[in-house]
Order: sequence, then C-alpha cells, then structure tokens
Amino acid sequence: MAERTAERGRRLSPIGARFTRAGGGWGLALALAGAAGACERIPEVEALHPVLARPPDRIEVRELAPGTNLGQALWSAGVGAGDHPALLAAFGEQANARRLRPGTRVSARWTRAPERLVGVEVWTGPDTTVVIEPAGGGESRWSSSTRVAALAVDTVVAAGRIESSLWSAVANLPDLADIPDRERLVWLLDQAFQWRIDFSRQLRPGDTFRFAFELNRRPDGSTHSGALLAAELSVSGSALHALWFSPTGDEQGGWYDMEGESTRRAFLKKPLRLAYISSRFQSRRFHPVLRTWRAHNGIDYAARQGSPIQATARGVVVRRSVSRSYGRVIDLRHANGYRTRYAHLSRWAKGTAVGSTVAQGQVIGYVGMTGLATGPHLHYELHRGGRPVDPLNVDLPAGDPVPAADRERWERERDDRLAILPPRPGPRLARASLASASK
Ligand SMILES: [Zn+2]
Repeated sequence: MAERTAERGRRLSPIGARFTRAGGGWGLALALAGAAGACERIPEVEALHPVLARPPDRIEVRELAPGTNLGQALWSAGVGAGDHPALLAAFGEQANARRLRPGTRVSARWTRAPERLVGVEVWTGPDTTVVIEPAGGGESRWSSSTRVAALAVDTVVAAGRIESSLWSAVANLPDLADIPDRERLVWLLDQAFQWRIDFSRQLRPGDTFRFAFELNRRPDGSTHSGALLAAELSVSGSALHALWFSPTGDEQGGWYDMEGESTRRAFLKKPLRLAYISSRFQSRRFHPVLRTWRAHNGIDYAARQGSPIQATARGVVVRRSVSRSYGRVIDLRHANGYRTRYAHLSRWAKGTAVGSTVAQGQVIGYVGMTGLATGPHLHYELHRGGRPVDPLNVDLPAGDPVPAADRERWERERDDRLAILPPRPGPRLARASLASASK
C-alpha cells in the first residue's frame, strides 16, 4: 500500500554539506596536508615509492559508557592525559561535553611511525560530528569544527486503512517497516489534524489515510523522517486535508486545508504537554470533594505536581488570586470575547501579574492541588461571551489563512502536494469477498 515515489518527490536537500566554524580549522588542515605532500615528493626515485607510501592511520573508536565522560573515552582510546585539557577546550567551542549521551561515538586517529595523534572526532548527533584537528603551531594545538552530514531527502508516500487505531495502522504498514521513527509520523499527523479530530475518539475502523513525508537519508544509509508534506484523512466518508506551506518560503510554515485555511486554531488544544484528561466538561457530575452533584465547567488534566502550564492563547492576565474552591487561579482574557481559567496551581510563573500580556504557549504557572482538589491536577475552563464552553467540543477561531499575496504560489504548491499522494485505499478486501459470496 505504501510506495516510494521514484522521481517526482526525490530531490537533494538544499542543506547539503554544511560546515560551521570551519574556516580556520579546515583551512589549516588543508595547508598541513599540502605541506606533507610536498615533503613526500622530494626523493623522485621510483623504487622508493612503496617505502614512502604512508602507512594507514590507526583509528581507535570508543563509545561513551553510561556515567563516563569524554575525557574517560579519550583515555580509553589511548589519548594521554596531557592532551586532554586542550582537546576538551577545543571540543567545548562546538558543544557541551556534559550533554553527551551514553553511546556517543568518539574516535582518535594516529599516524604510524612516528605515532602522532592527528585528530579526534565526536559524533554529537545523528548528523553532526565535532572534528578536532591539529591547529598547526601557535599556542593552541587544536582547532575544532562541526561537520553536518549531507542528507539526501526522499519523499515517501503511504496509504492505509484504519482497523483499530491510526497508530497501529501506520506502525504496521509493511512499506514503512524500514522507517525507524514511525511513531513520529503519527505524532506529526496528530499535530496537523489535532484541531479537527481527536484520533483516539473520532477515528473509526474503515476510515482511511494517505500521506507524504520527507525521509532524510544519512551517508551511512540510516534514515529519519522529516517534514509531513501532505496528508488526507477520510473520516466517515469526508476528507480532511493538511498540506504544508511556507508563506515566507523558508522552513517556517504550517499546514493548511484545501481552501488555504490554517489547520491551527487560535487556542492550543491543551494547556499541558504531558497530561491525561481525568474529568471532562459536563453539565452534571458528582463532585469528589463536595460530594454533591454539580456542573463541571471545565476539563481536569491529571499531571505531576509542578508540571508547567501554558497559556492556550495570547492574552492578558485579568485575575490572579486564591479562592476556596479554585485555590491559586489565573484568568486570561483573549481576543473575540474568549477567556480561559487555570486552577489549583501550586504557584504562578513570573510575569503573570494582573495586567501582564502573555504569549500563546507561555508558562503561566505550575500544577498543584490548592483549593478543592483530591490530587495534583489542572482545572481548565474556556469561556465564550461569558459562558463556559467545552474546550474539546467548540469551534475555535482559526489561525491565519494563507496570505492573499501568496495565494497563487499556495495553489500551485497545494496541487503539487496533492499529486504526490498515493491513491486512496480501495474497499476492504474482506467486504468485497463477502459481497461476492452472497451472490
Ligand atoms: Zn475541574
């Protein structure tokens, strides 16, 4: 069901090989290589060539063991302690040695006869290597640079039908089997469609999906997924689209539907990153503390004590107080008659005094259990025109559409993106065979 597009989507990354802070280091390295070549060329006697052919360098590769540091890896690779301060200083110009993860590869390279350390490489990320090389005289013996591997970018397309969940449908597509970060694709689909559909509640068996995304291929052949370019969900027979477009023409952009409306909404879907809903919006529920039936005018998110709470939209702090039931509570006023409320906080964040303007996504406080609460959770309310509404079931104002000035380019790119999508999956085989059997 999934296939690689052979020609259409394939292109080379505009990034290509990129070198940062490489000027001095690489220039010197090349100069040194030139000098060595000149020395070797001096005796021009044929028979001497095999003798003068430089023996290959010796390379020791180590992986950072858990709980060890770069110095220990260098030591284990045979680099004497005398070289460590200068090497670590050179490394520190490119990256933070304390952030290196266990499993990080470290290599040290020596020439043979005379044995001389001529380079250290540290794989700081899947695509980046810090290279430390002789600086060629002067006080600092080493210079460093960061090398970014050239990525080839393929476009990969996939289509399928949901049997139980989107997650399992994507994870089990045979043709995505060699893509190691398939779960990221589901996450990207969720990012693109989160405002239109709740994957866990609104997708049904038989709904179909198709999408196209970039696959970055490293020189060593390993891959990781890149941008989600286009996606279509057919939910109960109607199609939802998310098509990537960058109004500014660079890597900043977003997903838009067929009409050029942003798939984003002016409000974040939820005020906490990691939380699950412990109580929904409902007109009547039994209150666990008051032990009476009353309306629940918001959503409760169970989360760890101290989890940061984000403002779901840009707004102004209009209330910051302590109440008996809400505990520490913050109210924000937003455009177009919306307000949000965040209750039971353990503490407020800086910059949230009444009258302050807060940005969408800005941390305004931390999860607690002040007021009437049985455990740490955030009580979140959304009000429109003075009345509480269900944040999960309200048609929220949309993000900005494709700007009028970019309309022509948008329509062209939209059609290109749609064209790379694979065909929609056909009717389910089981159903087809049942139909023919009943004749
Ligand atoms: Zn609540």
